[in-house]
Amino acid sequence: MGVIEDIRACRLCEARFAATATAHAPRPVVWFRASARVLIVGQAPGARVHESGRPFTDPSGDRLRDWLGVDGDTFYDRERFAILPMAFCFPGYDSKGSDLPPPPICARTWRDQAMAALGNVRLKLLVGGYAQKWHLGGKAGVTATVAAWRDHAPDVFPLPHPSWRNTAWLKKHPWFEDELLPALRGRLKEVLE
Ligand code: SF4
Repeated sequence: MGVIEDIRACRLCEARFAATATAHAPRPVVWFRASARVLIVGQAPGARVHESGRPFTDPSGDRLRDWLGVDGDTFYDRERFAILPMAFCFPGYDSKGSDLPPPPICARTWRDQAMAALGNVRLKLLVGGYAQKWHLGGKAGVTATVAAWRDHAPDVFPLPHPSWRNTAWLKKHPWFEDELLPALRGRLKEVLE
């Protein structure tokens, strides 16, 4: 598929990334095929994924697979899951050591083409605020958007980011694990079978 090769070859953020503390080069992590049935929209690769070249090869990925109730083989089967973050490259760190936001130029340049290449998606998982704003619009924050998950299910599920930074959020909102996740796993089973 042309768009996959085009994204892999993209170096639009070269100067931007060279100016960060890690001074890294762009390494687009592209993980989708036209036939995928489930689309995961994430934020941007972290440093570990920048190294591995595979999405979600980090503790966030372990938590996400746990939420979905799928093993690694299933998760990395591109006939089943497409993983399209809001930026395809690791953006670097801010002064506090947190990941920088996804560069908006990435979604502006690639998102429509990448989405157009996916013709078979039946379930979208919107992970975090950037993905939710792009796909759902509106100004609601992540908590309000995820709390209103029934407005979007069963074809779209908004999720918080599975980062360790959200462990306190998960404890504070037990309905996420008690109500949303069972509904999501049920829908996932239907779509994948
Ligand atoms: S983040 Fe996106 S736009 Fe920037 S270099 Fe990577 S693929 Fe290109």
